[in-house]
Amino acid sequence: MTEKQSLCEHLAAITSITRPQRHECEECVKTGSRWVHLRTCQACGVTLCCDSSPNRHASAHARASGHPVIASAELGERWLYCYPDSETAEY
Ligand SMILES: [Zn+2]
Ligand SMILES: [Zn+2]
Ligand SMILES: [Zn+2]
Repeated sequence: MTEKQSLCEHLAAITSITRPQRHECEECVKTGSRWVHLRTCQACGVTLCCDSSPNRHASAHARASGHPVIASAELGERWLYCYPDSETAEY
């Protein structure tokens, strides 16, 4: 994590990053849909698709579950995003 002082409480509470177990959107796989990028929920570890994907499962999950923070599940990307605060942090 960076030493930025302005992190929201959700990002500040992340002490270790949950990496994706599998490189696929769990919900899209069920319906045979496609996705663009993958995000991993830092509260429950589910990996879902981003807002550029047709089904936007990650943000739908955040709204439905109240889990605020996702991490990019893309190789080489090291950032977190908090939905309620629209805040990004690199790690
Ligand atoms: Zn937050
Ligand atoms: Zn999806
Ligand atoms: Zn979750």
